[in-house]
Amino acid sequence: MPNIILLGPPGAGKGTQAKRLVDERAMVQLSTGDMLREAKTSGTEMGKRVSDVMARGELVTDEIVIGLIAEKLSQGAGGGFIFDGFPRTLKQADALGKLLATSGQNLSAVIEMQVDDAALVARITGRFTCGTCGEVYHDQTRPPKVDGTCDACGGHDMKRRADDNESALKTRLMEYYKKTSPLIGYYYAKGQLTSVDGLAEMDVVASSISKVLDKA
Ligand code: AMP
Repeated sequence: MPNIILLGPPGAGKGTQAKRLVDERAMVQLSTGDMLREAKTSGTEMGKRVSDVMARGELVTDEIVIGLIAEKLSQGAGGGFIFDGFPRTLKQADALGKLLATSGQNLSAVIEMQVDDAALVARITGRFTCGTCGEVYHDQTRPPKVDGTCDACGGHDMKRRADDNESALKTRLMEYYKKTSPLIGYYYAKGQLTSVDGLAEMDVVASSISKVLDKA
């Protein structure tokens, strides 16, 4: 079963595309950002420790996220894993390679979602999600049909992320360019990288990703 990484800056659409693959291909989405937010909400010690770091838009330590991924990999995935927001540093990338190898698995492809910074700021600062089902909305480009009500599940619990503001976004972008973008060269050199235009229509991006998966 294919295991893929979705690589790209915050707001590139990794989560949106990952959710489609979960629905369409029964793959398992591993989002370290979601796992960390869950830890924060459920009030675990680790969740409390990472809360401020995340709100500022900085990366949490490699040890924490590698630990989270190691636990999930040991549970296995029928349809393959989608790594969403992991790895974000070279150390995490090396650790992922080793973890997959020890569980007899490999990485099928790394998909880089290319977008420009101006588009990211607009995408992220208007973003909100349904707290009940996770459907993603946007103030300008994708408001719900009825204000405050989720189109997908009818829920009324819309949420904005604490780090979806301009100041945290600046830090998140800086962290991406300093620590995560070297992974583009790393996976290119391994012959595993495919780049797609992340600014295309959502369905077009999805079909580019599908093509990569069909070949994997
Ligand atoms: P995301 O939902 O992927 O945008 O992640 C939200 C925040 O969680 C990031 O800004 C980091 O603070 C933290 N985070 C998520 N994944 C990682 C990772 N792989 N390495 C370090 N920090 C992470």
